Amino acid sequence: MEDSFRAVGIDLGTTYSAVAHIDETGRPTTIVNSEGDLVTPSAVLFDGQHVIVGKEAIKAVATDAENVADCSKRDLGQKIYHKRLEGREYPPEAIQGFVLRKLKQDAARLIGDFKKVVITVPAYFDEVKRKATQDGGYMAGLEVLDIINEPTAAAIAYGYQQGILNDKHEVARRQRILVYDLGGGTFDITVMEIEGKDFTALATDGDVLLGGRDWDQRILDFVVEKFQAEHAIDPREDPCAAGRLWRECEDAKRTLSAREKAAVTCDYQGKALRVELTREKFQELTRDLMDRTEFTTRQTLQASGLSWDDIDLVLTVGGSTRMPMVEKMLTNISGKKPNRSLSADEAVAHGAALRAQMLLQQAAGESPALKIKNVNSHSLGVVATDAKTSRSRNAILIPRNTPLPASAKRIFKSHREGQKTVLVNIIEGESSSPEDCMPIGQCTVRDLPENMAMHTPIEVRFRYLENGRLTITVNVEDQEMLHEITRENSLSPEQLDSWRDYILAVEKGQTEAADG
Ligand code: ADP
Ligand code: MG
Repeated sequence: MEDSFRAVGIDLGTTYSAVAHIDETGRPTTIVNSEGDLVTPSAVLFDGQHVIVGKEAIKAVATDAENVADCSKRDLGQKIYHKRLEGREYPPEAIQGFVLRKLKQDAARLIGDFKKVVITVPAYFDEVKRKATQDGGYMAGLEVLDIINEPTAAAIAYGYQQGILNDKHEVARRQRILVYDLGGGTFDITVMEIEGKDFTALATDGDVLLGGRDWDQRILDFVVEKFQAEHAIDPREDPCAAGRLWRECEDAKRTLSAREKAAVTCDYQGKALRVELTREKFQELTRDLMDRTEFTTRQTLQASGLSWDDIDLVLTVGGSTRMPMVEKMLTNISGKKPNRSLSADEAVAHGAALRAQMLLQQAAGESPALKIKNVNSHSLGVVATDAKTSRSRNAILIPRNTPLPASAKRIFKSHREGQKTVLVNIIEGESSSPEDCMPIGQCTVRDLPENMAMHTPIEVRFRYLENGRLTITVNVEDQEMLHEITRENSLSPEQLDSWRDYILAVEKGQTEAADG
């Protein structure tokens, strides 16, 4: 039976996911999956009537690559996942839904049934990707209590672990922490201040298309180049050969975190080549990737208004921070040795579990154990027309790194008498041209008052909630107007329900019924 006083934290990673809860002793603990592992590959194998998630799915990239969906988190915010699976198109959040469903069922086996979860997202996720994450949870049959930023979760886990949070969950001394999170698919950097009950983000930045996968790819390209020079064929042409080679390269990368050299064997169409790689060569092949994270780190520190002297601690999380080059770079620019006391794979899930527990306590009428204050990672704007050039431009209303919740209003004037509707295009991004920004959608107000005079002010108020989600209200002559938001790249409530039914039917082995 579902226990409504049970909630778990889920770190839904691009490459690996983890689930944690608060155990009987009150400590956050990672829940092992049904394979007995602490982390589950976020990969889905579509195998006829069956959908297999996790380790077996990632293994299948070597034999059945065309039917494996991995890194679907990278595609959130797009309408469909970048490849067809068994001839079918899936929205990326539905693939996330399958992953979440597996995580849920595995955890329920050990701790009993539950619905309530907190899911983490990169701080640098935009509004559309945040919504898609919540939708993935919905499709998995979960109740998403909240989404929180991964670096914030890591900071909470750190606060807890260090015992600087006392019984009252308070941090005795103010600390400023720089969280550097380099995972498999995303890079996130956040400067946080923790004091008392307050966990406050001062600035955040990142790259949702930069992670361990890109380091793997560099090794792969290097090996393929050598292989081609020798045998004049390219194993990347065959998805399964490419999948096999990728697994070899990822393995070599891990070896290079522990040893000075590693070897990759490339085997394709009866030809084979063994390629040796030193740590030094690997660093050279990936220097520009490392430089990108360095640049963003410096920029974020600057945006926070602090200098390295003000930073008490550099905290690293994410599997890719195990690469020695990360520690070297951070030590070099900050003059401080990064703190690696948190488990790179579990910290984010632990922070989410602590957050979930706090939300349950709050719902039970207890005072919140801590306060999380975020900033928005992308500027919010509307598409406006430049009066002089009559070109479209991004009129920014809430600049990035504004403390949340934040709101801004914009007055639009009706441009003719008796106007019936207004339409506002909402975007996120820093560029002045709307095409380079992320479209959130259109806000339409249809029932404007009858015979409304020309130039009547129509007030549109935009509000970011603490978790970075957006709400909108529209007022005309002090009256709140009904409006609808048509989202650009999101699923409608009906589509969500139908995917949810599908995911649950697949689990029960009843796909045919759901398909029809
Ligand atoms: P995400 O949350 O984005 O899925 P994780 O934080 O779980 O990512 O980290 C996964 C990434 O860390 C993968 O790219 C993996 O190859 C990399 N990784 C894990 N262990 C090591 C290691 N020892 N050395 C280098 N990279 C590692
Ligand atoms: Mg992660």
